[in-house]
Amino acid sequence: MQYSPESWEIPKEIMDETTRALSHQHEVFVLWTAKRSEVVPRCRICRIVIPRQIPESSILGVSVRIDGDELARIVYDNYTRGEKSVVQLHTHPGRSVVMSGLDHEREVVRHPGALSIIVPWYARDGLPSVRRTDPGSSRVMTHLSRTSIS
Ligand SMILES: [Zn+2]
Repeated sequence: MQYSPESWEIPKEIMDETTRALSHQHEVFVLWTAKRSEVVPRCRICRIVIPRQIPESSILGVSVRIDGDELARIVYDNYTRGEKSVVQLHTHPGRSVVMSGLDHEREVVRHPGALSIIVPWYARDGLPSVRRTDPGSSRVMTHLSRTSIS
C-alpha cells in the first residue's frame, strides 16, 4: 500500500492526552494510530497508545525499554481495530531532538512516511513543535520531517 500522507490531522483530545502522558521526570514513549482507511492523503490520528514501558538510564543516556510481547500486543490490537501505528513520540531530558543511536535501534514505527517526534525537556512545554494552523478547531498540522520517504 502506498503510504505517504500529505498532511496530518491530530484531534485536540489526542494532543492533550499525549501532553499529559509525556510530561514526567523521565523519558516516555507513546504511539499514535490511524485507521488504515484514513492514512492518505490526510492522515487522521485516532488513538494514542501508551505501551507498557520501563524507563532506563545508562552511560548511553536515558531511554525506555518496551518488551517484544508488548509490541506484539500493540500490533495485534491495531490489526483487530483496523488501525496502524503511524507516529512514535518520545521525550528527551534536554533540548536535543536528534534521534540517538539507541533511538534508531529501538525505532517502533519505521515504515516509509512514518513520523518520529522527539519532544524536548520531558514535554514540560507540551508539544511545541506542532503548529496549530486552525486555531479554535480540533485540527492541527505538523511541520515535522518524516523519518523516511518512500
Ligand atoms: Zn531519544
